[in-house]
Amino acid sequence: MGETEEREMVDLFVAGGGVNGCAIARDAAGRGQSVVLAEQGDLASATSSASSKLIHGGLRYLETYEFKLVREALRERAVLLAALPHIAWPMRFVLPHHTGLRPRWMLRAGLFLYDHLASRGGLPASRAVNLTTHPAGRLLKSSFTSGFEYSDGWVDDSRLVVLNARDARERGAEILTRAKVTSARRHADHWEIEIDRGGVLEIRRARMLVNAAGPWAGLLSEHIGPRHGLRLVRGSHIVVPRLEGHDQPYILQGHDGRIVFLIPFEEDFTLIGTTEAEHGADPASAECSEAETEYLIAFVNDYLAKPVTKSDIVWSFSGVRPLIESGGDATSASRDYQLVRDDKGGAPLLTVLGGKITAYRILAEQALDKLGVPGAWTAGAALPGGDFDRAEKPAMVKALVADYPFLTETWARRLVTAYGTDARRILGAAKSTQDLGGDFGATLTAAEVHHMMVHEFARTAEDIVWRRSKLGLKLSEDEIAGLAAWLAGKDRS
Ligand SMILES: Cc1cc2nc3c(=O)[nH]c(=O)nc-3n(C[C@H](O)[C@H](O)[C@H](O)COP(=O)(O)OP(=O)(O)OC[C@H]3O[C@@H](n4cnc5c(N)ncnc54)[C@H](O)[C@@H]3O)c2cc1C
Repeated sequence: MGETEEREMVDLFVAGGGVNGCAIARDAAGRGQSVVLAEQGDLASATSSASSKLIHGGLRYLETYEFKLVREALRERAVLLAALPHIAWPMRFVLPHHTGLRPRWMLRAGLFLYDHLASRGGLPASRAVNLTTHPAGRLLKSSFTSGFEYSDGWVDDSRLVVLNARDARERGAEILTRAKVTSARRHADHWEIEIDRGGVLEIRRARMLVNAAGPWAGLLSEHIGPRHGLRLVRGSHIVVPRLEGHDQPYILQGHDGRIVFLIPFEEDFTLIGTTEAEHGADPASAECSEAETEYLIAFVNDYLAKPVTKSDIVWSFSGVRPLIESGGDATSASRDYQLVRDDKGGAPLLTVLGGKITAYRILAEQALDKLGVPGAWTAGAALPGGDFDRAEKPAMVKALVADYPFLTETWARRLVTAYGTDARRILGAAKSTQDLGGDFGATLTAAEVHHMMVHEFARTAEDIVWRRSKLGLKLSEDEIAGLAAWLAGKDRS
């Protein structure tokens, strides 16, 4: 271990760089607070890059009578879809009616409630569909003849985290990655927090401390404050090449009462998930097990006209839900969150327990309110690159191709989807691909990598191909190794 360094006092220290920690740092910085955030790995390296990526009220939670949770999430859905026109968009889900499962009247009633619990924010209402004539029916076995369509939202979860962190930094916050909080000592008017930055220890002092360590929040609370138990439930997804005719997402019901999504993903792929398995081990070790793979394949093959097989799988990922302990099974455990403030013995500590990607903004707003910091501001504020209207997106893609004729339409769409109005910042005055520096494959250029490193905290090839982008799905192993070697050379120079 190296020397211990000590720095000046700040207002707020946030432990954890998932969606909740980064959003709290952003909100606090915008309220004029001095902020430091420490993330032990890369931003979004845990649960916040492993979600199903839905901005949704959670149709399923109506069955457990969580109307308040669903109403709040639906309200947030409208707020987020407006603020994130690049990385988030509405989707029209298909819900096939399965004759041995929930009756049609029940599905219709649930969707009616879902449509009316909160404003749809311009999204079309649900409706019944005839799957013998609707294009969505082609993917399914012929026994599925009817169903419903309803609206929800999608977001690129790991980019959402990074854009929150970037906005926080632009508003003055200090964002530290590869910085693990190892201990925190409470004093009457401040916290003394020790962080390990790759063998170098630093002491930071802050008037308030937030524990936003997601699935590790319980572990951290054992060291720094009142103990909180969390229930850790792993969820896994598998990715296969885009199923033929897969243009709309599906929500599929299972014989076990669960649901699984089948979602068009990253232009050429289909995302299938998720599972629920109690996770006793370190959250960092979450991986899709053999049993989960088989479960997901059997689940969707109950519906698909052309079955998927294990050999179709090109990628899988797993995350651990930090759920509030409430007894019962994992499926019925609430997805709601709690913000627990504790001032015993001195400076305040706020612990975030549970949550959803969908609720991240309102959670951060309530966290700051709970810490007594006035000035909520994020409701109408776009994240970096999101300062445009969603309806303009197709025109933005066309304009990019017109101004940079060496771009293909797919490439331009990828850039606008990831960076919004910042896409032009990456392309600058380039007249050709060569002007963007080295080409690592799959349209990833040195100019884009540079943007990810300077503005988005990326450090390694993994940060770049699996979290700042999902180009890992398209790059070969050799190409990823080439990128890693280039980054190592850059480090040396
Ligand atoms: C399978 C699955 C599917 C989901 N699908 C959806 C969905 O479709 N829609 C939705 O709204 N929600 C969904 N969720 C829920 C959502 O993903 C989580 O609620 C959310 O990502 C939690 O964010 P977080 O910031 O609390 O935790 P995390 O993202 O886990 O962030 C916590 C961070 O703290 C860091 N950390 C831990 N200990 C320390 C330490 N000592 N020092 C420094 N850093 C530390 C970790 O490295 C981690 O990055 C899903 C979750 C799962 C698992």
